[in-house]
Amino acid sequence: MKKTITVLGATGSVGSSTLDLIERAPDQFEVLALTANCDVDKLAAAALRTRAKRAVVADESCLDRLRDALAGSGIEACGGEAAICDSARMGADWTMAAIVGTAGLKPVMAALEGGRTVALANKESLVSAGAVMMAAASRHGATLLPVDSEHNAVFQCLDRSAPQAVRRIILTASGGPFRQTPLEAMQSITPAQAVAHPNWSMGAKISVDSATMMNKGLELIEAYHLFPVGADKLDVLVHAQSVIHSMVEYIDGSVLAQLGSPDMRTPIAYALAWPERMETPSEPLDLARIGRLNFEAPDYVRFPALKLAREALAAGGARPAVLNAANEVAVAGFLSGAVGFLEIAAIVADTLDRYDPAAPETLDAVLAIDAEARRYAVERVKDCVV
Ligand code: NDP
Repeated sequence: MKKTITVLGATGSVGSSTLDLIERAPDQFEVLALTANCDVDKLAAAALRTRAKRAVVADESCLDRLRDALAGSGIEACGGEAAICDSARMGADWTMAAIVGTAGLKPVMAALEGGRTVALANKESLVSAGAVMMAAASRHGATLLPVDSEHNAVFQCLDRSAPQAVRRIILTASGGPFRQTPLEAMQSITPAQAVAHPNWSMGAKISVDSATMMNKGLELIEAYHLFPVGADKLDVLVHAQSVIHSMVEYIDGSVLAQLGSPDMRTPIAYALAWPERMETPSEPLDLARIGRLNFEAPDYVRFPALKLAREALAAGGARPAVLNAANEVAVAGFLSGAVGFLEIAAIVADTLDRYDPAAPETLDAVLAIDAEARRYAVERVKDCVV
């Protein structure tokens, strides 16, 4: 029996890596639905190649073009957020959640309702709605598998039967492209410089998050929800080479690590084949060539976004949702040229100072907090002078 697959965010970096693996094993996988925002050319090509049953664009103004591109193929073309959520509910055995940002939250929740397996790349949804999402996964009997390379590494190293034996979970961080850039040179960093990650090829938003190290902060919050060992047992270690993807330290002094080339197809394949393993075209790791592995402590002064995320995690409640929404607005502002690099963290900090709602208990409450935090952040962006 083939495993049925839906890929939410099929045209992005993670979505494309997922399709690459699926297309290498057509006898094992059958594609139900592929979704995108508005990249019709890429979506239609992927739907035709994989003989998907349905292709969906979130942006309804792109639907006519999608219909034209799929005319005569028998593939159903749909548009709008509701259609994305319907597709997430089609009952695929395995759903890749790879929409970027909180736009992925409702589709992830819809996919969890099916009670099957959801491979989670879309960290922003878990940061915003952690408690609500984990409760939904458990209520519907769904399996949530981490795809983020760090969390996938922890998942591979963690003895889930003995969480009390964990002393620390250590998330490794590359430190991004500006790990050694003098602080005074950081304000003039351009979007093109920020998206050029030294090790990983990723979408624009996560690349900027890596450059500010907000990405590692979001990952701390993500880890808190996925691995219930407590926030005080979550650590960050800078490891610029991105060879060790994360580690688990146990009370007996053992430290288990997962290593591999920086290629998202490895963690995606682990989630796709879980609980088995499958072959990937990822380059084998050549440790003799690498020679040595280097580590350093994170610099919370140069990377205030990481500190803000740690504080939001410690405070809990709605703080992570506000942090995430403000960061999405600030990063979009930076990518459009309206916000300087160092202002990204400042916008997040100001939004957190000005807006402190009560903890959300429902999806609607999370979405309302997200919308309000964005409103504060957008106002703050207007004050920026670049
Ligand atoms: P990309 O920007 O490359 O892709 C984003 C995908 O989401 C595209 O398919 C895009 O469609 C779709 N999309 C964007 N906006 C919307 C919307 N409003 N509604 C529906 N779909 C939308 O992102 P990445 O693949 O890099 O990242 C995806 C997620 O995975 C992020 O949450 C990121 O943090 C996480 N992640 C990514 C990693 C990586 O290596 N890239 C590693 C670990 C986690 P379109 O193409 O039409 O715009």
